[in-house]
Amino acid sequence: MILFKKTTDLHNWLETQRKKEKTIGFVPTMGALHEGHISLITAAKKQNNIVVSSIFVNPEQFNDPKDFDKYPSSIEKDIEKLLAEETNLLFLPSLEEIYPGGFVKEFFELGYLDTVLEGEFRPGHFQGVCIVVKRLLEITGPDDLYLGQKDYQQCMVIKRLVKLMGWNEKIKLNICPTLREGDGLAMSSRNMRLNPEERTLATTIYHTLQFVQKNIEPGDLSLVKTQAQSLLTNAGFKVDYVEIADANNLQIIQTWDGKKPLVVLIAAFMNEIRLIDNLVLEPHE
Ligand code: AMP
Repeated sequence: MILFKKTTDLHNWLETQRKKEKTIGFVPTMGALHEGHISLITAAKKQNNIVVSSIFVNPEQFNDPKDFDKYPSSIEKDIEKLLAEETNLLFLPSLEEIYPGGFVKEFFELGYLDTVLEGEFRPGHFQGVCIVVKRLLEITGPDDLYLGQKDYQQCMVIKRLVKLMGWNEKIKLNICPTLREGDGLAMSSRNMRLNPEERTLATTIYHTLQFVQKNIEPGDLSLVKTQAQSLLTNAGFKVDYVEIADANNLQIIQTWDGKKPLVVLIAAFMNEIRLIDNLVLEPHE
């Protein structure tokens, strides 16, 4: 594995590979790698000659500075994991490499996606995501970009970003399924911060998603949402949202026609730790 810290070195190296007709798959991460991240790398390896993964914890996408300060970091272990996966290339830039001369604010027209769900509860978050992803895509210029469905709304935001930048012909988005622990908890770097008791209670998020999947009926969805909310609060969660939305555009659905594809999305705090998860609903038999 080659480790690049400098943007120009990486850019030049990839240019050379591109001239040799090599395809490039890109997996951006914030580190503290787990099997979910590795599944993206595995998918990228299957479809590309070269796989670039990046580790960069972007301060601009944390609306809560405490969350940024406490974001887990395990670079040495991450490198070991990437070596074991025979990842071709790791990009580990400094803040200065990503924002040379300092951070300059940009605005991305994300419309509705910027104000609903994560957009509502984490103001500015997706603008921060767009700035860093745009920068990383400019540096790496991949053929394929790999993202996790775990961050459902982020996938939509990045799809929008790619379109806004006019890159949709050039960069193919690959959305990979959410990897879960044996008890259903979605793998997340933030899970490392849960103590044993919190870790046990955290599975309630997945049980709640399953509860909605099992109990949803066409018509008014307010009762099933209230019940789902209670499951979470009874387990000790402070809920930001439990919502049911159109899986194609994230418009919140209050009354379901029984046909529209749906996604259930949850964001909730277990004490200090904010967890998110979602489930695309399968049609009932
Ligand atoms: P992060 O390091 O949390 O920014 O995540 C980097 C990428 O890994 C994002 O595209 C995430 O959606 C994806 N990812 C995070 N957790 C999982 C998971 N449990 N399963 C699949 N992909 C994931």
